[in-house]
Formats: sequence, structure tokens, C-alpha cells
Amino acid sequence: MTQTRRNFFHAGIALWTASLVPTVTIAANPPELQESDPIAVALGYKKDAATVDTTKYPKRAGATGATQFCSNCALYSAGADGLGGCTAIPGKQVAGAGWCNAWIPTS
Ligand code: SF4
Repeated sequence: MTQTRRNFFHAGIALWTASLVPTVTIAANPPELQESDPIAVALGYKKDAATVDTTKYPKRAGATGATQFCSNCALYSAGADGLGGCTAIPGKQVAGAGWCNAWIPTS
């Protein structure tokens, strides 16, 4: 096989191999979780933790409860613009200033 034919052959294999690699699309900015979303309602999520009904969710009542925010929850990973990911709510972003009844302290 000549050098030119070998190069042509290898280029063809490279193109064929590249066509087999699946294309994965990653959402750069998942949508923000809305308080009306069924999972938000189920978890008592509020984007402003100060608006949580502490009678319904006594976990956030009192001086200790008032320190709980998504931003210091073990399930939160900070993103941009005050939003971040929550492992309990995949595919949506939650507000760092928010809260839900699944809040867990960081260790
Ligand atoms: S689990 Fe944590 S980060 Fe997720 S919504 Fe609830 S308080 Fe916020």
C-alpha cells in the first residue's frame, strides 16, 4: 500500500469511528424550580426562605431554623446568579436563598 493510499485509508477509519461516538447534549442552564412545581409543593420549597410557613414546617422555626438555606444545605451545589443544583431535585436549579423541608446540614 502506498503512503497516499494508507493515509486515505486511515482518514476513512477516523471518520467512521467519529460517527460512532454518541452526541451528548448537556443543558448549560437547567430551568429554575418554580414554587408551583409539584416536587416543590411536596417539599415545601420556597425561593425566599423567609416566606416559609414555619407553623407548617417547624424545622425552619426559631433561631436555628432561620439559619437554614439552600446555600448551606448538603444537597446544594452553587451555580451562577444565586442559583444552584440540588441532588434531591435533578434537572432544575434552586435559589441559594431558598429552603425546603429536605434541608440537610453540611457535615
Ligand atoms: S434539599 Fe436542600 S438544596 Fe435542595 S431544595 Fe431543599 S434545602 Fe434547597
